[in-house]
Formats: sequence, structure tokens, C-alpha cells
Amino acid sequence: MTEKMKSVNPYNQKIIKSYNLHTPLEIENKVKLAEEIFTIWREKEIKERTKLLSNVSNLLEERIDSLSKLITQEMGKPINESIAEINKCIFLCDFYTLNAEDFLADQIIETDAKESFISYDPLGVILAIMPWNYPFWQVFRFAVPTLTAGNTALLKHASNVSGCALAIQEIFEDAGYPKGCFQTLITNHDIIENILKNDIIKAVSLTGSEKAGRHIAKIAGEYLKKSVLELGGNNACIVLDDANLEKYLDTMVKARMQNTGQSCIAAKRFIVTKGIYDEFVEKFTKKVKDLKFGNPIEQDTKIGPLARIELAENLEKQVNDALLKGAKVIIGNKRNKAYYSPTILTEVTEDMTVFTEETFGPVAPILKVDNLEEAIKMATNSKFGLGTMLFTENVELALHAISKIPDGAFFINDMVKSDPRLPFGGTKASGYGRELSKEGIHEFINKKTVYIK
Ligand code: NAP
Repeated sequence: MTEKMKSVNPYNQKIIKSYNLHTPLEIENKVKLAEEIFTIWREKEIKERTKLLSNVSNLLEERIDSLSKLITQEMGKPINESIAEINKCIFLCDFYTLNAEDFLADQIIETDAKESFISYDPLGVILAIMPWNYPFWQVFRFAVPTLTAGNTALLKHASNVSGCALAIQEIFEDAGYPKGCFQTLITNHDIIENILKNDIIKAVSLTGSEKAGRHIAKIAGEYLKKSVLELGGNNACIVLDDANLEKYLDTMVKARMQNTGQSCIAAKRFIVTKGIYDEFVEKFTKKVKDLKFGNPIEQDTKIGPLARIELAENLEKQVNDALLKGAKVIIGNKRNKAYYSPTILTEVTEDMTVFTEETFGPVAPILKVDNLEEAIKMATNSKFGLGTMLFTENVELALHAISKIPDGAFFINDMVKSDPRLPFGGTKASGYGRELSKEGIHEFINKKTVYIK
């Protein structure tokens, strides 16, 4: 019997669709096709590639209603956020359509040679392993620069979003990309080593958990394949006494609660100085209570179900660990299947798993500190290094903190967010390599030195 992969709507636990897993032979053929097409695709002028990319942008625009519904059905994201996700992919396509030629132009370097320069060549077939939390955005931010640089790509998407994975392949094909340029593999993650060790695959990009990252890094190391890893995060949100709550409280709530808390760059630890602590807890709680909890397909829903029941169970376990160790629930900590109510915890300490591990859902642990120095010490007490945010009216003071933050991003008076114009990535257990901007399109290319005497 053919093995199936099921997409289940987390709102009502109904099966949306079952997909046949690709057989080993089908996968082998897709890998070979990706290599064959690479030889044609790499020869295309960048202008031809960006022309197709602008078709992708138009198709996303045309299909925005059905694609955003598909995201919401497969992983439970509130519909307005699904629409925003597709719009962000459009912005990304438009950004690289405009800038790729510049980013990939030869870079002349004066030396003793008559002429010397760096030529940016594609590497070949790149494997992507992607998560379900932003099922379009995560794939697009890998695929758009990677394909535009002249590589071809194979996607192994998370097993709960096969509908999105196939819709993305369809978009690239309908936009006019040669068949084989971007292919989705419907498969379990246990056969990834088999794919990655194939000489045809030149590199791998994984966005996912620390555990998956360590596994892929090991395999990539063994077979000497370049890897980019975008892993978990446990971002601190520091709020100083002089923070402007009136102006920024909505941002702080969004920083934790968007995508029902299932974001790598979410604010996962609120570290608040004592002068504003009580006011912050009271006002933050009120805002969180006002978020409409319910069916993600309804326009005004702000908090939907988590993507799978076991994710909600895991979150509940993390909170219970905190409660056993002395934390206090201000609101929340109620679970019904995949639904987990927005939860605020105080009296949190640094030994609790809600502090040491990533909480992937709507849980806001709040900690009290005396001053900025103590806040930074606590914020950097993490194995992760994706980003830190700091809210203060004293930007001068905040600027002095830049060198003390060992993360991939430091945002002052805003939430950590990705933007196609800026590099994105982490340090420590959050991974390595960068996506987006010029840095991102330079990850999967051969920076070749050319020297003419
Ligand atoms: P996950 O369980 O690690 O899965 C991510 C992808 O890796 C899926 O395609 C999954 O396939 C595959 N995978 C899982 N275990 C693997 C293994 N041992 N070897 C090879 N592949 C493996 O993560 P998730 O639950 O989908 O996503 C949430 C995590 O992603 C969080 O930790 C979040 O912080 C992180 N994330 C990071 C970023 C970033 O930019 N840094 C962005 C988004 C999410 P299956 O579905 O078949 O298991």
C-alpha cells in the first residue's frame, strides 16, 4: 500500500487531503531532473530569470485568496496573517526582481593583474528543508534568491503542509520556470541523508528546530556540503523604565502573539525594569485579553489553534514546569485539543524551561530586573542568538548596548522582524548563514576569483 502524508485542519482536526509519498525512484528522478535543468537554467541571462520572477509576483497577487485560505486550513494561521504572508512574498519577489542583477554583477578588484574580479556563479542543485509556521514565506525567502542566482531547488517541506508545498511548485511552473527548476518532494525526513549524500546535491538550507539543525549539520559535514541553518530562537524583549508603552505596547503584544506565538523571532522572554514592571504587566495583560480567540478563517480572529495538538500539549508541559517551580499564571494556561489560550506568567526564574527553551505558542513569561545591565545579562543568558529587542526613549543608551548583544539582530523600539532588504539569521544554537538581501543571494554561489595577467 502506498504511504500517505496527511494534511489535517488544526481548527477541527478534519483531514483536508492525503498525499502519496514519492517513491525512492520518483525522488531519484527528480534529483536527476534538477541537475539536468541546472545546465540550462544557469546559462540564462539574469534578466530572463527576473522576468519570470515578476510573473511569480503577479501569480501570487492573482491567487492570494486561495493561497491564504490554504495556509490557514493547513496550519491554523489567522486569515489576515496568511494574507500578509503572501503579500510579503510578493514584496520579496519584487525586491529581487529589481536588485538581483546588481547583487550578482562581477565585482572588479584592482590588483597587479590587467583585470581581476569576482564572478558569482551558481552552485547547482540545492536542497531546502522547511517548517510549517510560515509555509510560503520560509520557502520563498530561500527559493527566490537561490533560483535567481541560477541554481535549481528541491523542497522537502514540513509534513503537515504538503498542499502549500505543491502550490508553490505550481506557481513557479505556471510563471514559466522550466519544469525541474523548483520541485517539491513529498517525503518523510528520515530519507534526507540519502538525498543529501547524492553528489548532485551541492548544498542544503534548513529552517527548523535546533534538533533538526544539529542532525542536518552533521550529515552536511560528513558529505562536505555547504549548509545554511535558520533554527529556533528565544528572543528577549527588554522594556526599560522610560519605554513609551502608549506608542509601543501593541508592537510588544504582536511580537509575542503573531502567528499564535509560533514564530522563531517572537519575543519569548519579557525582561522589564522594576520602575515600569507593574504598569507593563497590567497593560500588557489587558491587551492580550482583548485578542479575539477562535476560528482562524474569520477575519477578526487574532489567536487561532496551534498547528498540531502535540505542539499545544508540549507548550502546556513547559508552562506546568514553570508553575511547579513557582511561576504565577496571570491569564491563560487552558488547552482544548490544538487550542492553547494566551498565557502570561510572572515570577519566572532562569531555571524554568519557559526561560531556557523556546516556547512555540502564545506564552509570555515576564521577568523583573533592576536596570539595563541586569537586563542584558539575563537576555544573553540563552543558548539561542536570533535577536533581541529593546524599548526605551533613550536611543543613545540603547546604541551602547549593540556590542553587548551577541545575536543576529538587535531592534530598538520595534519587534524583531525579517525584511527582504536586510540580512536575516542567527548565532549560537539559532544557526548560521544569512538569508535575504545581498547576503542571502550570496549564500549559494561560488565566489570565483578571475585573474587576467
Ligand atoms: P522541525 O520539526 O525541525 O521541522 C522543520 C523541517 O525539518 C521539516 O521539514 C521537518 O520534516 C524537518 N525535520 C525534522 N526533524 C528532522 C531531522 N531530524 N532531520 C532532518 N529533517 C528534519 O521544526 P518545525 O516544528 O517545523 O518548525 C518550528 C521550528 O522552526 C522552531 O524551532 C522555530 O523557531 C524554527 N524556525 C526558525 C526560523 C528561523 O528563521 N530561524 C524560522 C521559522 C521557524 P517533518 O515535518 O517531516 O518532520
